[in-house]
Amino acid sequence: MVGMLVAHASQPAPGRRNEDLVISGSTWVAVLDGATPSPGVESGCVHDVPWLVAHLGGALARGLLTRPEEKLPDLVAAAIEETAAGHRHTCDLANPDSPSSTLTVLRERGDALDYLVLCDSPMALRRTGGEVTVVADDRLDRLPGGKPYTRELVRSLRNRAGGFWVASTRPEAAHEAVTGSAHRATVTGALLATDGVTRLIDWYGTPWRDVVGVAAADGPAALIGLVRAAEREHGAPAHAKPHDDATAAWATWPSPQAR
Ligand SMILES: [Zn+2]
Repeated sequence: MVGMLVAHASQPAPGRRNEDLVISGSTWVAVLDGATPSPGVESGCVHDVPWLVAHLGGALARGLLTRPEEKLPDLVAAAIEETAAGHRHTCDLANPDSPSSTLTVLRERGDALDYLVLCDSPMALRRTGGEVTVVADDRLDRLPGGKPYTRELVRSLRNRAGGFWVASTRPEAAHEAVTGSAHRATVTGALLATDGVTRLIDWYGTPWRDVVGVAAADGPAALIGLVRAAEREHGAPAHAKPHDDATAAWATWPSPQAR
């Protein structure tokens, strides 16, 4: 196993607590983006979003480290189940507004790179030829009826077939994620990002290839700096937060000479 080199940065929206999380080991990296609750909504949970992402991330890290041969959907399902068990005795896990998070993970396993993308924190693989392959779970972007969504619509379609899937209280969501494997030798770098970073692409028109180029040349913190600059210069769409928590991780592999 070659081992990954991972650089990452995570920055909350100005004045806010960070509801994103990034974690990594020598052969894996994961990003999570907790969903900010709508004001006044009764979630049935006594915990906040950082509690949820910390428990999901902690359980996932333990699984990745202690059960390295297990399939990613099984590891993520176990992390969701373990997190749910941590508050089943205090909270109403049947509440459709229970806290939730995206979860994207990339793991090196022998010659393979396994990945899992659950909800809207996408991943981009830079191939040996320089082209960029984006792996995204865009179901939240194309719910029936189109945008702008009502809160009721999102609630009714969360973790439902025909709707969208997210890490919350239902382990089966892990098996609905976008998953796959790439041959390690075909990939020179991988970017995992929350939607606080991909607004560069979605709102400001920066091509994925350029976003990956900044991560590769200047690192994830510089990428987040570009996001903040674009937000200040161009603002946000009417329905959206002016700033969001922004997290990026850039994974590379040492060159053969460096091994
Ligand atoms: Zn709770």
